[in-house]
Amino acid sequence: MSETISIQELFTKNGIKFRQSGDEIQTFCLFGNCDAGKKDLADSHLYCSKEVFYCHKCNAKGNVFDLAKQIGVPLKEVYKNPMQEKLNPNIISEMEKEIERDQKVLQTSTGLIWLKNRGFTEETIKLFKLGYSEYYKGISIPQYQNGVLVSIKYRIIEPKDFRRKANTPSVLFNLDAVEGKEEITIVEGEFDCIAGVQEGVKNIIAITVGAQTWKEEWTPLLKGFKKIYLCLDSDEKGRAGTQKVAEILGLDRCLDIILPEKDMNDFFLKGHDKEEMDKLFVEAKHFPGAKTIVSSNDILKMTLKENPFIVQGMLVEGSVNALTSDSGKGKSLLMLKMVEAIVSG
Ligand SMILES: [Zn+2]
Repeated sequence: MSETISIQELFTKNGIKFRQSGDEIQTFCLFGNCDAGKKDLADSHLYCSKEVFYCHKCNAKGNVFDLAKQIGVPLKEVYKNPMQEKLNPNIISEMEKEIERDQKVLQTSTGLIWLKNRGFTEETIKLFKLGYSEYYKGISIPQYQNGVLVSIKYRIIEPKDFRRKANTPSVLFNLDAVEGKEEITIVEGEFDCIAGVQEGVKNIIAITVGAQTWKEEWTPLLKGFKKIYLCLDSDEKGRAGTQKVAEILGLDRCLDIILPEKDMNDFFLKGHDKEEMDKLFVEAKHFPGAKTIVSSNDILKMTLKENPFIVQGMLVEGSVNALTSDSGKGKSLLMLKMVEAIVSG
């Protein structure tokens, strides 16, 4: 589904001039004052392949997402989006009508009681356009991507089950709301995400197919995020899914949150509050095997073990030393004497 456009396409679409330079293109640096006042693109410093760029003056580097951010282009414009084009416009308008109808039906249905028992407020229900499907006897949850209604998910109330509108894609729920952010939180289900939004958890999205069936096409959609908190279900399946998702998205940028309840909806429902949730975020752990980033402040606080001198005040064990002077001043003799002193103790 969501491949990204090339850097060349990004420039063309946004009126940024560039010139071909071998296999690469080059343009004036967009990050520093590297090319201030220059007229000729041949003198410019920012070189780009299809996917990455590098400035030969200020060393700025990154991918098409970093460039889009820098020139102020919404990240969604970086994706090619054939999925939406594939979706028949008739299906979209049918779904829109259905969502509208289901929202009305909800008001006098058992669905409303169910939602309130799950802790959801009128405001939240309206925000996510939740409805009640008489056909499925369950809550209908519209799913948007880039502002377009692309699917409806149904949470059948009794017995608990899920359905998806036929011939529509599985998307990341609430992804539109985290556009342009650096950090996101991923939970396992729509209702966990909705509960999180209601309680003020920031930048939260949900997997819509269960933790263990991550969709390959979702991975590039999350390329631009620097830090990803994984807060999936705390049961065995959820834990296994967490590890899998972290490996797919990259261990280095993922952090692990283990909830004391089964999921985020349960967490708030059982009386835990936002403050407690914030603490879980602060305490979130890196996954084993992840590279850790150490701040310069922490480096300054480290105590280092010094190697001992082998010639007091001059030569430190394990070090490389240079002995210099004008010629004929006795360097060689001094060095031989030192070596002799060292080896004889
Ligand atoms: Zn530069």
